[in-house]
Amino acid sequence: MYDVIVVGGGAAGLSAAIFTSRRKLKTLVISIDIGGQTNLTNKISNYPGFTDLSGPKLMDIFRNQAKSTGTEFIFGKFKNIEKEGEGKDQRFIINLTNGESYKGRAVILAYGKVPRTLGIPGEDKFVGRGISTNAVQDGHIYKQKKVAVIGGGNSAVEAAELLSETSSKVYLVHRRQQFRAEEITIERVRALSNVEFVLDSVPTQIKGNSVVQALTVEDVNSKSQRELKIDGVFIEIGFVTDTSFVNGLVKVNAANEIITNEYCETSTPGLFAAGDVTTIPYKQTIVSAGHGATAGLSAYTYLQKLDGKPVVKIDWT
Ligand SMILES: Cc1cc2nc3c(=O)[nH]c(=O)nc-3n(C[C@H](O)[C@H](O)[C@H](O)COP(=O)(O)OP(=O)(O)OC[C@H]3O[C@@H](n4cnc5c(N)ncnc54)[C@H](O)[C@@H]3O)c2cc1C
Repeated sequence: MYDVIVVGGGAAGLSAAIFTSRRKLKTLVISIDIGGQTNLTNKISNYPGFTDLSGPKLMDIFRNQAKSTGTEFIFGKFKNIEKEGEGKDQRFIINLTNGESYKGRAVILAYGKVPRTLGIPGEDKFVGRGISTNAVQDGHIYKQKKVAVIGGGNSAVEAAELLSETSSKVYLVHRRQQFRAEEITIERVRALSNVEFVLDSVPTQIKGNSVVQALTVEDVNSKSQRELKIDGVFIEIGFVTDTSFVNGLVKVNAANEIITNEYCETSTPGLFAAGDVTTIPYKQTIVSAGHGATAGLSAYTYLQKLDGKPVVKIDWT
């Protein structure tokens, strides 16, 4: 039995665990990986205090800090959550896909988002055989090969820039003329001689035999088709929130993000949420870390009150 179970080992989850462990609450982090989406950036330039650090290095610091304060870790995939009992006897049961279950008196949901899919023929067939959603991790596979990056946000443009360093040719396929990415990054990518912008175009099919060999794109205006001969496709079209895990226990908005108040409380007492999985504006590492800290302190306050113990004053007011 844990005091607090944190689901998700990204910036929000690790930060929450640091705050609950420091309050001497028996804390377990359950996660598929450690670091989450922050691991996907090879240089994090907007986390105050760290000017030249990769995402994975920053997340290592978070992990070590959580570990040193007593947090326990289990690697596994969260399947669903159940609630039993009421008031002081209330418990949450976290079920994993491997059949294991863990019980906690309070739970902090911090499992972020999952990559959005294209929904086109060939996409399911070639996952792991030429299709990737992670240029930092998989880019090296396509050394001196041709790749396509799909998307128009920061992730896509940054992926194209990174891949241009090792791949012989990079097609950047985007359904509009205008990008959502930062201007400064777009300008840098426009200057790269081995990056070709394929604009006003949507992917319609991924082709190949045992591995990816081509991507078909359609011009949204003329409807003409073009086949790009490539070895790899990087799908960088954003992330979606999966709330099927917690159906019924939390309220969500139209984008399926978990609604919380400023204390990271959900609609179920004892169940908190933090970071990208929530409605919090600005999906950034520093924001998730701060949100995780709030969730950790709120879980502590909740348990102290439940046990009739005094709540240590945490703010300066
Ligand atoms: C390519 C890219 C570059 C970025 N660059 C920057 C940047 O430079 N600066 C910046 O501030 N932000 C950046 N971001 C955004 C930032 O990474 C996120 O806002 C941040 O990671 C959110 O943290 P989080 O803990 O809320 O969620 P996540 O980082 O998504 O962590 C979620 C955690 O939950 C785990 N998880 C998910 N599903 C399950 C499940 N079913 N069972 C168990 N565990 C699960 C995951 O394994 C992960 O550990 C970038 C994002 C991307 C994609």
